Amino acid sequence: MSRVAVCGMGYVGCVTAACLCRDGHQVIGVDIDERKVASLASGMAPVSEPGLDDLLKQVTDEGRLVATTDINEAVANSDIALIAVGTPSAVDGSIDTNAVERVIASIGQALAESDREYTIVLRSTLLPGVLEDTLRPILEKSLGGPLGDRVRLCNNPEFLRETTAIRDYDRPPFVVVGAEEEWQAEAVLELYSRIDAPRIVTDTRTAALVKYTCNAYHAAKVAFANEIGTLARALGADGQEVMRIACLDTQLNVSPAYLRPGFAFGGSCLPKDVRALTRFAQREAVASPLLSSLLPSNEAHLVRGAQMVEQSGHRKIGLVGLSFKANTDDLRESPLVKIAEHLYGRGYDLRIYDPGVQVSRLLGSNRTYVEQHLPHFAELMVDTPEELCQHAELVVLGTNVADGFDWSSHCGGDVVDLRRDLVVTVHEAAPVT
Ligand code: NAD
Repeated sequence: MSRVAVCGMGYVGCVTAACLCRDGHQVIGVDIDERKVASLASGMAPVSEPGLDDLLKQVTDEGRLVATTDINEAVANSDIALIAVGTPSAVDGSIDTNAVERVIASIGQALAESDREYTIVLRSTLLPGVLEDTLRPILEKSLGGPLGDRVRLCNNPEFLRETTAIRDYDRPPFVVVGAEEEWQAEAVLELYSRIDAPRIVTDTRTAALVKYTCNAYHAAKVAFANEIGTLARALGADGQEVMRIACLDTQLNVSPAYLRPGFAFGGSCLPKDVRALTRFAQREAVASPLLSSLLPSNEAHLVRGAQMVEQSGHRKIGLVGLSFKANTDDLRESPLVKIAEHLYGRGYDLRIYDPGVQVSRLLGSNRTYVEQHLPHFAELMVDTPEELCQHAELVVLGTNVADGFDWSSHCGGDVVDLRRDLVVTVHEAAPVT
């Protein structure tokens, strides 16, 4: 059993903390956001993630998870810290490392007065070089000297995906730990002794780049499938079927995941990580035309989606889904938020159905996430798909959030499915404005 501090109680931090507790470790979660800490103290997840509430309730009831805003308390009661604070895009496309710098400095200060052995692990996504050239000097400065063998600085990128985060935590493709020397990774690997996955210890730069490589490849697959889907439509072929058959080619040796024509990729990771990688390549004049084309390709696909809606001629639009996929409240870089903004800005009469983002985790039942982050959308949200149908001349299916709802029998207007080839199904009695 390890005593672990998890710094940053967002999507990654909460899931990691809850799963570590379930696997027998004692965890203290740290966040600067008092509302998140209070939410955790009451056994409720501060983010929306399937299965997380139940798991958190179980481990808080058993007293294995506590939460605090006090990093000193967390360091004092742990032997290893996992840092899972955000690393969002900076204005120039590189990553903003402010939060991670602050955390590492405060852990260093908390350790400065003692001679305890301690392991610090970067779980946040960071470009190679940040740990070595930025964080390590900050840590040494706050510690008042070199790390020596006493304080170990490792990285251990996370590969979970929102909405399947607990399952992904339990079944990662591999556990990769970056460390200066192999023995330094032992305390990290110990945390995952119950996880059945290949374990790889490598240097910190390699470990960091593995994470970017995987996300860039996922993004490339989505962009590729969407371009093939668009070409297929122009050529009169079925893009879905093309990709289904192409994936059977054993020479491709590739999982069909992300390889179906659908809508633009989004969310808090793929765009940000591709952006950081290509920004680095640009700054260092490393030619990477393939990677550099991913975000423009994705943007072009988003524009195609918006054009589908515009070309329908309808003005009363019902958007199904606002977050980047169903069952999450995470609206960061959601392509559906971009579609909604685009339509709203052009005066379309818009209504949105997405029960996932209306569930307010932190603000109480009278103020929703949308009210706080996208106040101009608050009055556009409807509670049921039926309500959406009553309003819409064109329903735009963006995510699976209303799976099972029979649009054809409830909806008098047209339907465009962004999840599948952007095909518009024109209803017999479609009203045309
Ligand atoms: P998030 O924004 O949901 O959570 C970050 C948390 O860190 C917030 O609760 C914030 O209040 C807290 N925080 C900020 N500064 C702090 C400080 N000084 N001390 C303590 N807490 C602080 O972020 P996330 O989506 O969980 O992502 C975290 C990292 O993991 C990022 O680097 C991201 O790229 C990476 N990642 C995310 C996912 C994902 O699906 N969300 C998957 C894999 C990796």
